[in-house]
Amino acid sequence: MDIHHLITKLREKGHKITPQRLAICELVLSSKDHPTADQIYKKLKQKFPTISLATVYQTLHLLKDLGLLLELGFPDCSARFDPNISPHIHIICLKCGKIEDYETENLKEQWAKIVKDIGVEPIIQRLDLYIYCDKCKKNQ
Ligand SMILES: [Zn+2]
Ligand SMILES: [Zn+2]
Repeated sequence: MDIHHLITKLREKGHKITPQRLAICELVLSSKDHPTADQIYKKLKQKFPTISLATVYQTLHLLKDLGLLLELGFPDCSARFDPNISPHIHIICLKCGKIEDYETENLKEQWAKIVKDIGVEPIIQRLDLYIYCDKCKKNQ
């Protein structure tokens, strides 16, 4: 979704558009590395010294509620954010926490078929694959 469309959507829901909020949206919606709220906060802190972690969380949860962002919670209570909301596989390193996306049309078709066969309407769709990445394997 482009940023203008997003602004319209936020306004429709009665949310104020502040430069901080906009910067958070732009950063997370263009990120491919599944950042944590803290990473987003630290990146924007230089440009917006008054930004708070609470604002970052609020904005991320707003995007999540609008269906534009996935929040990936993990058993260690960490959460990562992903703007890719179509079905894809997360290849997650158990050691360093790096997350890569694996996405193919074939997967999307198969997944849609499975969901249809089960006969449910998914609210959250998530496919996780845990590995040790090459870098971590080397350092072991
Ligand atoms: Zn790793
Ligand atoms: Zn992803």
